[in-house]
Amino acid sequence: MQNILDEFLQNSFDIRKDIIDETNKIEDELNPIFLQIDKIKEYNSLKVLDAMRKSRLSDTHFSWNTGYGYNDAGREKTEEIFTNIFKSEDSIVRPTIVNGTHALTLCLQGILKSGFELISISSKPYDTLDQVIGISDSYHSLKGQGVIYKQIDLLENGDFDYPQIEEAIKSSKLKKMVYIQRSKGYSRRKSIMIDDIEKVVKFVKSIDPEAIVMVDNCYGEFIETREPIEAGADVIAGSLIKNPGGGLAIAGGYICGRRDLIDIIAQRMTSPGIGKECGLTFGTTRTLLQGLFLAPMIVSNAKKGAVFCAKLFEHYGYDTFPLFSDERSDIIQSVGLKSKEEIVNFCKGIQKAAPVDSFVTPEPWAMPGYDSEVIMAAGAFIQGSSIELSADAPIKEPYTVYFQGGLTYEHSKIGAQMALNEILK
Ligand SMILES: *Cc1c(COP(=O)(O)O)cnc(C)c1O
Repeated sequence: MQNILDEFLQNSFDIRKDIIDETNKIEDELNPIFLQIDKIKEYNSLKVLDAMRKSRLSDTHFSWNTGYGYNDAGREKTEEIFTNIFKSEDSIVRPTIVNGTHALTLCLQGILKSGFELISISSKPYDTLDQVIGISDSYHSLKGQGVIYKQIDLLENGDFDYPQIEEAIKSSKLKKMVYIQRSKGYSRRKSIMIDDIEKVVKFVKSIDPEAIVMVDNCYGEFIETREPIEAGADVIAGSLIKNPGGGLAIAGGYICGRRDLIDIIAQRMTSPGIGKECGLTFGTTRTLLQGLFLAPMIVSNAKKGAVFCAKLFEHYGYDTFPLFSDERSDIIQSVGLKSKEEIVNFCKGIQKAAPVDSFVTPEPWAMPGYDSEVIMAAGAFIQGSSIELSADAPIKEPYTVYFQGGLTYEHSKIGAQMALNEILK
């Protein structure tokens, strides 16, 4: 069987013989890690199943309303299921939240106003929040509304800077939101493990029990057995075209958290006095829930793909982050390449491996919200979905490419092989 597969890779995908041989050795070595990932997958699959059983999900919940969308049974059921999975008091799960940035913005702008201070303790938040916070100017920025912004960078080794956090919380009498980004996003640092979130949340609350802790959970869902609310966070948000949508959700975002916070966020999302009582689901509930049902498996495939990619590129002398053997709290694998040309070739390889648009050539472009040109390779069934295999890189030193996703391990694996193949050509 191995021979048939190897020949197919050489003949149809044009993969170099040495890459194929290395892959076979690498996979043997990765087996113990994959076994561990499978255990987490099983736990999370059962967690989702249990939530669906407990809430008595039924086929009547897959229909939808018109107009205001009062009492949309499917929407309410979906939110109940998210509440159960993420161990929150309440949730907002909507196809009308356009992306992760929108979900995060609703939390920030829904909770914060003049008299509040936002303290980011995991370095600068994701680039698309610059204008939301006011790190760069915009009409609706939090800074423009009188919210004070402070930022505490992670230490060199990726840990929280406890003394600075203590100092920042003690030095002002304003109401506070402490903000944590779980995933590394487009930055070269560790992703933050749930245990580390738990430790820092306890510390923050021991100094100021009233501080609201918010976690950007993008890319983190179902990577570990616990989620940030179980570690003490008050509110979390993420995108449905990443992990929790399992590749099937066609759009949307979610927010889970304390009931009082979800209530004020919902009033910002629709209108004061209306909150989460309105809002159509446009027939998306079934695909969303089916995606959620598959998500723990899909995420485990993407995670295995990331581990494989790391091991393969490490073997060929590239600097990878995290290392194949490191613990992970998101699905992103960064690979340190040596030039702009290598970045473009890596992305070409990923694109050639895509089921959709395999024939197009990715090019760097100036994407709104980002401060340098960005190149993105993706041939996804859902536009922009990064739980499907994709690679992105800002075109700037140190030439780091971010590899993520893969609905199947096989796809993620061939993507990494083709990316390397393209570089070595
Ligand atoms: C993807 C992502 C976001 C928001 O992304 P959208 O593209 O707006 O969905 C925010 N934070 C992190 C860490 C992310 O990975």
